[in-house]
Amino acid sequence: MIQDIAPHHFHNEFAMPQPRPQDTLLCFDGDAVLLCRNKAEIVFPSCAEGNLPPETLRYLFVIDDQRFFLYCGEGKPQIAGYAYDASGFREATPSHLAFAGATATQLARWYREHRFCGCCGNLMQHSETERALTCSCGNIVYPKIAPAVIIAVTDGDRLLLTRYAGRPYRRWALVAGYCEVGETVEDTVRREVMEEVGLVVDGLVYYKSQPWPFTDSLLLGFFCRAQGGLSLHPDGNELAEAQWFSRDEIPVGQNHISLTQEMIECFRDRKDPYQK
Ligand SMILES: [Zn+2]
Repeated sequence: MIQDIAPHHFHNEFAMPQPRPQDTLLCFDGDAVLLCRNKAEIVFPSCAEGNLPPETLRYLFVIDDQRFFLYCGEGKPQIAGYAYDASGFREATPSHLAFAGATATQLARWYREHRFCGCCGNLMQHSETERALTCSCGNIVYPKIAPAVIIAVTDGDRLLLTRYAGRPYRRWALVAGYCEVGETVEDTVRREVMEEVGLVVDGLVYYKSQPWPFTDSLLLGFFCRAQGGLSLHPDGNELAEAQWFSRDEIPVGQNHISLTQEMIECFRDRKDPYQK
């Protein structure tokens, strides 16, 4: 999955180190990132190459001993040999830099969208004790992380796959949805399955979680069992199609970064929690 970058180690403990020349610089134009490609591999500029005032750089996180700094000043710095690239990091290599780039994009988007206080309109300040923006009026804003569930609905040897309507992503996926205010994640699982395909489920088993920076989400994967009445009633609005697949029929996926794909393959390979 996208966060699985071993043997590299990601650390995001809050700190405010000064940038060093060899540290990595991340500059954004919207969601486009300043980088170059060395054959297939992405390369970000160093702080030395950027030569930007240190007070405009904000420390984000470190991978091994490579520190990443975000440019928070005005305008879009230009650095010879690098260009703003909006292709995203889903297909990028090496994987640890793809993860760094995607995670930095989420943080950059959050900083960009919260320059001013939503209560009083003043300029927000950077907290010196945690990853937060503060205002003199008392408002504190934390990074946006929207919890969402990915749900593998099973019926014995069969898995429920869905295809979304009206979206470019047309591959088979699992039922998924955001948690709403006032509900537990278990409630979200039951509600989303009922809303999207009209099934009652039980036997929920938590599988794994995944940060999904492309949609500011934290995904929580669950397996569950369909109860009784197994005929599907896709709502036709959110989902175009829903279909049961036996293990042998499950289509082979193309990506190796998503929790959805790992859960589908886990079921196909009989490694799902109900096998134990
Ligand atoms: Zn305020």
